[in-house]
Amino acid sequence: MSITDNITRLKNEMDTIKVTLVAVSKTKPVNELEEAYNAGQRIFGENQVQELVEKHEQLPKDIQWHLIGHLQSNKVKYIAPFINLIHSVDSLKLLQEINKHAEKNNRVIDCLLQIYIADEETKFGLGFDEAIELLRSEEFTALKHIRICGLMGIATNTDNEKQIKEEFYELHTFFNGIKQSFFRREDFFEILSMGMSADYKIAIEQGSNMVRLGSTIFGERVIKHWKNN
Ligand SMILES: *Cc1c(COP(=O)(O)O)cnc(C)c1O
Repeated sequence: MSITDNITRLKNEMDTIKVTLVAVSKTKPVNELEEAYNAGQRIFGENQVQELVEKHEQLPKDIQWHLIGHLQSNKVKYIAPFINLIHSVDSLKLLQEINKHAEKNNRVIDCLLQIYIADEETKFGLGFDEAIELLRSEEFTALKHIRICGLMGIATNTDNEKQIKEEFYELHTFFNGIKQSFFRREDFFEILSMGMSADYKIAIEQGSNMVRLGSTIFGERVIKHWKNN
C-alpha cells in the first residue's frame, strides 16, 4: 500500500469515529510527507526539535505540527513560534519554559501532559500523583500562555493485549478524573492522545480520540538520517 492509500484509508476510518490522526513522520524524508499532504493529511508529529523545525520550513504552512517526543527546556525557543501541540510535557519546569517562550511570541501554546502508564523504565512522563501535584500548584495557575488540552500516554511495548488494554483503561479513567477536578468548565481539555501503530485499535476501544501513527502510514523506519533516507 502506498502512503496515499494509507492516508486515504486511515483518515476515512478516523473521521468516521471522530479520532484525530497524527501522521508520525520522524526519520522520513520531506517527499514522503508531501505525499501524505497531497492525500489530505495536515497534522504531522515529530519527535526531534531540529528535524521538526527544518521540515516546517520546507513544507506548506497550513500543516499543524505536533511535537511527540521528549522536549528539552533549552530547545523550546525553536518551536515556540509555530508549534500547534506539544504532547510530551512532563514537568512544571518545562511548562514554565514553554509559557515564557509562548509569551515572547504572543501566543498561547497547547500542550498535553504526558502520563507514565507503561511498565518500562525508559518511558518519559509524569506519574498520576505528579500530574495532580502539578495541576494543583500555584506556579501552574500562574501560567497564562499555555493551555493543557488533555493527556498523552504510551503503553508498554508488549504482545500482551490485556496489559495494553489495562494501561489505556487506566489513562482514560485518570483523564476523566482530571477533567472533573481541574477542567470541568474548560472545553479545550478534551484530547486523549493514545495509540501507535501496534496498539491504536485497542487505544480507540479504550477511549482514545487522537492516535499517533508512523509505520502504519509510512512503512517501517530505517534508522538513518531523514535527509539521506
Ligand atoms: C514514533 C512514535 C509514534 C509512532 O510509532 P509507530 O509505531 O511507527 O506508529 C507514536 N508516538 C510516539 C511518542 C513516538 O515516538
